Parts: sequence; C-alpha cells; structure tokens
Amino acid sequence: MSDVIVEVSGLRKAFGTLEVLKGIDMSVRRGEVVCIIGPSGSGKSTLLRCVNLLEEPNAGTVVVNGFEMTDPDVDIDRARRGIGMVFQAFNLFGHLSVLENLTVAQRKVLKRDRDEAERIAMRNLEKVGLAEKAGSMPAQLSGGQQQRAAIARALAMDPAVMLFDEPTSALDPELVGDVLTVMRQLAEEGMTMLVVTHEMQFAREVADKVLFMDGGVVVEEGQAAQVIGEPRHERTRSFLARVL
Ligand code: ADP
Ligand code: MG
Repeated sequence: MSDVIVEVSGLRKAFGTLEVLKGIDMSVRRGEVVCIIGPSGSGKSTLLRCVNLLEEPNAGTVVVNGFEMTDPDVDIDRARRGIGMVFQAFNLFGHLSVLENLTVAQRKVLKRDRDEAERIAMRNLEKVGLAEKAGSMPAQLSGGQQQRAAIARALAMDPAVMLFDEPTSALDPELVGDVLTVMRQLAEEGMTMLVVTHEMQFAREVADKVLFMDGGVVVEEGQAAQVIGEPRHERTRSFLARVL
C-alpha cells in the first residue's frame, strides 16, 4: 500500500466563469496532519469537497486511499467509505439519538450487526468524552458536544483519512478547546488528517505541514513553524498579520 493517502494533482474547479481552484497540487501521507489556512473565499472548502468528489473537478486528478476519485469508473460509494468528513455546521441527524447517529451508517454501509455497531460507537464516544450522552438527542447537546459526536461518527467508519472543514468556526469560543483537544488526540494516535482551520495555534502545534491558499492557488507550503512563524510570501504575511 502506498504511503500517500491523498494526492491532488493539477486540480481545477470553476463555478461558471468563476475560477475557484487554479491548479492545486498537494498530498497527505499516512499519519500526517496537513492544515490549510487562507482567507475566506480562497477555495479551501472547494478543495476539500473535491477530495471526496462532493464537487466534480474540471481538470486534474484526486487519488484517495488508492481510489482515483476523478476516474469516471470509480466506485464512488466504496471510495468515500475511507473518507471521514466533519463540516463547520454540526450535521448530526436531529431525529436520531447520539448512539443511533453513530450506528446507522455502520449498519447500512458496513453491514455491521447492531451489537458490533454499538460497541464501536461506544468506543468512539468514549474517545471524544461523550459516552454518557449516547442516549441523548443532538438538540440536548452543546455545539461542542455535537461536533465531537460528529467526529466520533466519522471515526466509527474506520476512515483512512479525516477531512475537517473549519470544525470549530461555528462554536462559542469556550467550546472550541474541547473539539481541538479531540483533534489533537486523534493526530497523536496517528490519524491521517486534512484540516481547514483558522486556529493558527492548533495548526502550528499539530500540523506536520501547513498550506497557505489564496485566490485558488497554494501560495506557500511547508513546516508549520516556517509557514506560520516565518512566512516567505507577502500574501502569507499579510494574512497572518490579520488573523494572529
Ligand atoms: P473558502 O472555503 O476558502 O472560504 P470556498 O471554497 O468556499 O472558499 O469558495 C471559494 C469561492 O467559490 C467563493 O468565491 C465562493 O463564493 C465560490 N463558490 C463556492 N461554492 C460555490 C458554488 N457551489 N457555486 C458558485 N460559487 C461557489
Ligand atoms: Mg470554507
């Protein structure tokens, strides 16, 4: 098996005449944490959505966990099974309990029986500190708890890579830390992660590699301490001056 879990080459995406991704090359190796930073509108979410083919690229290739996502003949459902995704807005099923949120896809997609699915669900709820909320409904949870439940739900599917799109941006400030702690712990356990974030401290401490995107291109990439601490490009510097 290849050590490269995500490989994006020459990726282009336009919405009508608006060119959003103008030739992106990037990769994530097994066990690596790659953070993408950059101003609003620079194409970060579109890039993540192209990785699991929620958006169809206009050009270029995306390979994830050995599946060429951009191959028209790819078994996309199978390919997506290896990809866990956590969005900015908590996307739990509101009419299901937390436990059911974690078991439904395991049972439907992975064909696990109820006992096994619940066992794996509880293991992952424990991991994110929510075991005692298994029987609660999503609306009874704080935003931070909902986001941790969403992470646990993705983990229950045994993903090869986790994609996070600003997972803490919609949270009240006092709830951000718990979610970042869970993500930090995942990183330490060796999870392969591609994270769009505005949390510069998190990126600096946890990321193996940081990409700065602006205007649909990767302007700068390198080790976290270099890109955030000693940016080479003026665009990176002015972005960091605004957010730090
Ligand atoms: P970021 O996540 O970096 O803020 P996005 O990838 O969300 O940036 O958006 C990049 C640009 O693409 C923005 O100008 C946005 O308005 C535009 N865009 C994103 N999705 C769509 C869409 N489905 N249709 C039209 N324009 C879109
Ligand atoms: Mg975005």
